Amino acid sequence: MIIDCHGHYTTAPKGLQVWRDAQIAGKNPGALEITDDEIRQSLEGAQLKFQRERGTDVTIFSPRASAMAHHVGDAATSLHWSQQCNDLIHRVCSLYPDNFVAVCQLPQSPGVPPDNCIGELERCVNGRGFIGCNLNPDPSGGHWTAPPLTDRYWYPLYEKMVELDVPAMVHVSSSCNANFHATGAHYLNADTTAFMQFLTADLFKDFPALRFIIPHGGGAVPYHWGRYRGLAQDMKRPPLDELIRNNVFFDTCVYHQAGIDLLLKIVPADNILFGSEMVGAVRGIDPETGQYFDDTKRYVDAASGLSPADKQKIFEGNARRVFSRLRR
Ligand SMILES: [Zn+2]
Repeated sequence: MIIDCHGHYTTAPKGLQVWRDAQIAGKNPGALEITDDEIRQSLEGAQLKFQRERGTDVTIFSPRASAMAHHVGDAATSLHWSQQCNDLIHRVCSLYPDNFVAVCQLPQSPGVPPDNCIGELERCVNGRGFIGCNLNPDPSGGHWTAPPLTDRYWYPLYEKMVELDVPAMVHVSSSCNANFHATGAHYLNADTTAFMQFLTADLFKDFPALRFIIPHGGGAVPYHWGRYRGLAQDMKRPPLDELIRNNVFFDTCVYHQAGIDLLLKIVPADNILFGSEMVGAVRGIDPETGQYFDDTKRYVDAASGLSPADKQKIFEGNARRVFSRLRR
């Protein structure tokens, strides 16, 4: 089985945006008006088609990350928006239980301690079958006003994650800082930033069972592994393999062969989960290969020196370990 750990509902029917526009405009958005047929249509020609064509089986599926926009409105705005988005994901997973498993958006809001996310996380996990959440390290959308992920500020949410046995993908949303293009800079900055935060603190001593996926291949981290190893050594921190072993995982959302080859060579196979983020940030076809940039299975299949056992871990085993509720 091939589990894609990173997919968003980027093709949601337009009723979702209509709801959001009304909410932002301060009007009563009422109930979400989307039919099951619209949901089917939105997926059949996109995510489901690509699953079939590319030979993947299940996508761990969450609301569109760039649309979380935690910086918009206040905590109540974020809560109501998150509930709509998560309920829609739940409908997708109920219509296609063999193809999608749900991960939730959290109702984060700048300046609001993440304790406010616990209720929505519980609502999604208990009873609705969600198996993880996306955690935004920067709800301000590019101004980085929240404390680092290793700060005790986040601990109440981590306690709940551990209790519910769900991991978080570290995932920022849209950028409202003109310096940072959302998917080209802000996302990769955040991935890299989160890793360095984890390196410098004892978070995983406090939470040995806490699990994070750093998406987009870990941002700049694998490419600069030597720098991080050296920094860890200078700072008297544990070796990186040991630091990340049970707690930090990277996905394979890297859109060229050389990048995947590097990732697989540098990061232990136990810490890599197959992911594509389709249909997402990069939707075109690479003229150099004639294939979709985000058809990441192709790169993993073509990687040399990957043992069948490691390949199985990357495609399935690690996802089952990290998203442990997937088994249920
Ligand atoms: Zn994503």
